[in-house]
Parts: sequence; structure tokens; C-alpha cells
Amino acid sequence: MGESSSSRASSSAARVGLGPPVPYREGALSYQPVVLCRCGLKAHRRISWSDDNPGRRYLRCSRCRTNLDCKFFDWIDCEHTPFLKNLLLELRNAVWELQKERAEMQQAFRREIDELKEHRQQLEVEDMCKAEELKAIEKKLTERDELLQALALNINAGNRSPSVSFVLLVFVVGVLVGMVVPSVVMG
Ligand SMILES: [Zn+2]
Repeated sequence: MGESSSSRASSSAARVGLGPPVPYREGALSYQPVVLCRCGLKAHRRISWSDDNPGRRYLRCSRCRTNLDCKFFDWIDCEHTPFLKNLLLELRNAVWELQKERAEMQQAFRREIDELKEHRQQLEVEDMCKAEELKAIEKKLTERDELLQALALNINAGNRSPSVSFVLLVFVVGVLVGMVVPSVVMG
């Protein structure tokens, strides 16, 4: 059980770029009896998902992802049978495939949401422009209405005054005729 197995396990996981295919039910430190690494700290219990040792537990320095890593490594489980290894590898690959598909779907979904948001913003801007255009048209129509009303008032006033003056004229002419005709007849 050397350090070469450890580096192979971690490099394989890094190559695939995927996490453990199953959520761990126990923490890295929840085991007994305590095993100390060369730093004098309780070693972390992990599970390998490498091609060579899928589903096999091992102990590792708790500082293994830092520069202070003492390189401590020890297997907990014995090597699995070839049948169990293949079974675990197939299950691991199936889970990773599903995780990858889910991540791609989520990405596509997010892209679609972003596009819809952008489209909605464009529509909102268009709506605002149309609302302003509509306001301008309404303003023009109101102005025209006011103008028409003013014209109508003027026309009404113009119609009324000739009729009044015409009546007055007829009245005055009538009075004058009434004064002149009797004096001519009598004279
Ligand atoms: Zn250590």
C-alpha cells in the first residue's frame, strides 16, 4: 500500500473532473480507532473512485490538499474482486454520465432563461417607446379637439351675430318705412 496508489486515485478523479458518485453518509473523521498521520493529526477517511480501486476506502493526511501534506496514505478496505470492481466502475460511470447530462441541461436551461429575460427587457423598452408615441398622439388629438371646439364656438358666434343684425336691420327698415310711407301719402 504505497503512495503511488494514492496519487493514481487522486489523479484519476481530477482527470474526470467529477466528484464522488454517491453522497457520503459519514464524515471523514467519524471513525475509530484513531489513526494519526505523520503530522500527528487524525487522518481523513476517504473513498477512492479511481479506475483501479473504485469504492475502496483509504486514510489520508488531513492536509492533503495543502502544501503541508505529509503524504500519509493507507488503505482501509482490501482490494475488491474483479467482479465487484467492474460493477462499481459501471455504476460510477453511469452516475457521472447522469451528473454530466444534468449539468448540461441546467446550463442550457440557464441560457434559455437569460435569453427570455433579455427578450422581455427588449419588449419592455419597445412598450415604453410605444407608450410615449401614444402619449404624443393623444396630445396632438387633444390639441386638435381644442382647436375644433374653438372654431365651432367662433362659427356659432359668427352665425348668431348676422342673424341678430339682420333682425335689427329689418326692424329699423320697417320703422323707417312706417314713418316715411304715411307722410308721403298724407303730403
Ligand atoms: Zn499529515
